[in-house]
Amino acid sequence: MNFNLQNIIRENVKELRPYSSARDEYVSDGSQMVFLDANENPFENGVNRYPDPQQRSLKSVLAQQRGISQEQLLLGNGSDEVLDLLFRAFCEPATDNIITLPPTYGMYQVLSGINTIKNKEVLLTPDFEPDVGQILEIADKNSKILFLCSPNNPTGNSFSPDRITRLLENFNGLVVIDEAYTDFSKDKSWVSKLSSYPNLIVTQTLSKAYGMAGIRLGICMASAEIISVLNKIKPPYNVNELTQQKALERVLDVENVQLEVARILTERKLLEKALKEIPFIKVIYKSDANFILVKVDDADVRYDQLLEKGVVIRNRTTQPLCGNTLRFTVGTPKENKILINALSEL
Ligand SMILES: *Cc1c(COP(=O)(O)O)cnc(C)c1O
Repeated sequence: MNFNLQNIIRENVKELRPYSSARDEYVSDGSQMVFLDANENPFENGVNRYPDPQQRSLKSVLAQQRGISQEQLLLGNGSDEVLDLLFRAFCEPATDNIITLPPTYGMYQVLSGINTIKNKEVLLTPDFEPDVGQILEIADKNSKILFLCSPNNPTGNSFSPDRITRLLENFNGLVVIDEAYTDFSKDKSWVSKLSSYPNLIVTQTLSKAYGMAGIRLGICMASAEIISVLNKIKPPYNVNELTQQKALERVLDVENVQLEVARILTERKLLEKALKEIPFIKVIYKSDANFILVKVDDADVRYDQLLEKGVVIRNRTTQPLCGNTLRFTVGTPKENKILINALSEL
């Protein structure tokens, strides 16, 4: 591998110094200091102060749980903000490119458009695995980021660790593994490999398994060097106080998060079984996530029929390799029964 972080960072970003906000200098530790530095309203109401720009309390728990240091963590307003920061730190508009592997998460394409970055697409193989040879062939010196979504949305499978390893070892840019669904998978997180691969970035989120899509908390993990670059460009108060408090409470409640994940996995099994009995469902793809992709006889027709019965699912038929597919999120037992009943009546 020929990876050198200095060659990946945009020139203007190299020269930036992080904006130092008032709260960067001193964070209240509950002592008797008087804070007259940030032009806040002094009357306490729980949120009258600016939040900690480095989210220290939350990061200390997350770092400990994931076996990394706080310097290897950057938090954002959802992983969508984290992904956007990656573009802005490493991809020079109208010059650099990224590589994505459709069918996959739509935000990589959206963000490449917003940032004027060419998106080189390499289709997954028919069994939804990265085509390693093709990816390495299409990569050039301006290919700054390769996005691997594993478990992949919308196909639901985790990529083979062997293929991911080959990409980490041979791609000369950054490799982002989007682990939004990792908590539903038996495969191990790639976080434990951060010290082996200087080009590895792992993103996670509280939006799925942790049940906190509404608070917007995305997690980026990488080498301290990569994280320090991102820290230079992140908005100082990108994670608000309410989000920090709610997230901290939730990540400390390991038992209940695990319990909910287990219930969702049980429900996924039941749903898979029930879907087998639906005659117009032709393929049920193996899922490592909290959703199931199926191939049906006519996705547009079935989608509309379900909508008429008040069940909203995702029609993925226009995605490459996903003709006539529908994606069902695993819901509560009651919701899943409603879905199955609706499907049976069609
Ligand atoms: C849902 C999802 C996310 C979550 O994004 P947030 O902005 O953190 O809510 C990230 N990546 C993938 C692949 C997803 O499906």
